Amino acid sequence: MNTGASLADALKPGGVKHRPLLLQTKISNVSSELFYQTATELVALLDAKKLSSVELTAAVIARTKAVDARVKAFNSYDEADALAQAAASDARRSAGQGRGPLDGIPVGFKDVIAVAGQPLTASSKMLANFVSPYDATVTTKLKNAGAICWGRLNLDEFAMGSSTENSAFGATRNPWDLTRVPGGSSGGSAAALAAGEAIVTLGSDTGGSIRQPAALCGVVGLKPTYGLVSRYGLIAFASSLDQIGPFARTVEDAAILLGAIAGHDERDSTSFNTAIPDYRTELKKRKGPWRLGIPKEYFGAGLDPEVAAAVEKAIAFYRSQGCEIKEVSLPHTEFGVGVYYIIATAECSSNLSRYDGIRYGHRAKEAKDIIDLYFKSRAEGFGAEVKRRIILGTYVLSSGYYDAYYLRAQKVRTLIRQDFLNAYREVDALLTPTSPTPAFKAGAKADPLAMYLCDVYTIGVNLAGLPAISVPCGFSSGGLPIGLQIIGQPFHEAGLLAIAHAYEQAHDWKNLHPKL
Ligand code: GLN
Repeated sequence: MNTGASLADALKPGGVKHRPLLLQTKISNVSSELFYQTATELVALLDAKKLSSVELTAAVIARTKAVDARVKAFNSYDEADALAQAAASDARRSAGQGRGPLDGIPVGFKDVIAVAGQPLTASSKMLANFVSPYDATVTTKLKNAGAICWGRLNLDEFAMGSSTENSAFGATRNPWDLTRVPGGSSGGSAAALAAGEAIVTLGSDTGGSIRQPAALCGVVGLKPTYGLVSRYGLIAFASSLDQIGPFARTVEDAAILLGAIAGHDERDSTSFNTAIPDYRTELKKRKGPWRLGIPKEYFGAGLDPEVAAAVEKAIAFYRSQGCEIKEVSLPHTEFGVGVYYIIATAECSSNLSRYDGIRYGHRAKEAKDIIDLYFKSRAEGFGAEVKRRIILGTYVLSSGYYDAYYLRAQKVRTLIRQDFLNAYREVDALLTPTSPTPAFKAGAKADPLAMYLCDVYTIGVNLAGLPAISVPCGFSSGGLPIGLQIIGQPFHEAGLLAIAHAYEQAHDWKNLHPKL
């Protein structure tokens, strides 16, 4: 459906009118529960000795046991280990050696981020029995910050998908409506937060996998600038696109988690050496008005009218705060999905060649010889979507087609990045919908192409290496969350967080939780 007319309205001062929301029936007011509080609130309680990390962790475990049979956000968790970490945190605090704003806070990990001694499955049969021998850099940093490494969160196998239905261990469901998907690929990371099963979580974003599930589950999700957060210890999907990033209930919590994981790492050759600001202080210090661009290509055919209306209302909010709202054009947007599915599959076909049944991972039981062992192990270990991508990627890299597909896609990728950089000559950041629709029904997108189109608004950001955040900006008439995407300039996360925070503070979406 073409919503061009309403975009024109949104660009006019005072030009948008909105219907009231009809979602009261879905909302429960349980914000007072520990498991729905923010890290910021909880650390204040921990520091004031009104709460212990053991009590908090036990509350999160109890909540998980109560709801996860329905939500299925977790692949696995180790209660005793989490409680032992919490006891150590309490001991540190009592001894006056607290480590700051994440000490004692349970953090959930997407099951592609390595934590030594814990399972690391990528939601694939290929790694079903794999236990990580080492910590990812982000894990080391979080352990040093005193965070509780809590639970392994479900995803689309090897992070390939937009619904968390491609998991070898069963699909995650959306806590706002259990018949619907939570988005993907980091669906477990988003659903766990919406359901109160963690306080903050980590995900990874290659084409939208943090922002889209954040939007569909009504939480905050940030994809950092490529190179800001180390990829060491992240199971690789498409190495030139992958970034680890935070999920949180508030922008401030996301800023805290980002600050803890960002920074140069010599173990990741694409890691960028730049000073890491105190995001949490910066996001409060930086005040608008900002110059905000509205890319007209992001408001065309396929955009759900209720999503368009919620985003337009957010645009109107920024205008009311004195921001300059300007229509901009990103003319190569239409090539984004095509370019992404060439580059991402090419890189995945190469990255996934390591799963050969020899060194680690699934090994077929009976094989005639080593070639047969490769074939059978990979045929049995990978699911359908992963195989589809490996085949596509191998094809676009093959000698006869490399120039026509891969090389050409790289050139268009440069043009897509240039579009964004051109826009940033005139504006500080861009406002768009995160996802064209609210959460869809489980099983509704059986056609791979229909699934790939879920990423139209998120993919350009990865191709251009930019930071972007999704913040809740309303609900559909059916009570499903809607996300606003704010796209920033490279390494300007502090400014991006400030823009998101200004919106969040003036709205109370963050206090609404699903009835479970
Ligand atoms: N949905 C996209 C894909 O399937 C993005 C996934 C991701 O960001 N990991 O490739």
